[in-house]
Amino acid sequence: MNDGAADTCIFCKLAKGQVRAEIVFQDDQVIAFKDIHPQAPVHVLVIPRRHITALWETDESDEPLLGRMLTVCNEVARDLGVETSGYRVVVNSGPDAGQSVDHLHFHMLGGRTLEWPPG
Ligand code: 5GP
Ligand code: ZN
Repeated sequence: MNDGAADTCIFCKLAKGQVRAEIVFQDDQVIAFKDIHPQAPVHVLVIPRRHITALWETDESDEPLLGRMLTVCNEVARDLGVETSGYRVVVNSGPDAGQSVDHLHFHMLGGRTLEWPPG
């Protein structure tokens, strides 16, 4: 991890309570909060508390954390009423995917029919 990046990272600040967010779940490893520009009626971001730049920065040692993040996606989908209607988990990793915040995050989107393939 680059400590300099974490110092200025918006999601690290959010995880430390220095930036406001509508948090829907948190534990010692993970925080889930509503996206500030929702792309669906339900749009939640699930992030690790620890600064990780993107999925490309993870390796086998991160598997428990990545698994936890997926479980939290489903728990939040259940809490927000889209577990059975359906939802999508999206991870943008790097420039071609359009990643705009350099702190790993899973998008959990639901509450409407989602197009496939994505743009
Ligand atoms: P990306 O494009 O990197 O996959 O997704 C970044 C997401 O973070 C976007 O959907 C954007 O709306 C959201 N986002 C950026 N800054 C903030 C913020 O300060 N608070 C919240 N809640 N969401 C943010
Ligand atoms: Zn960060």
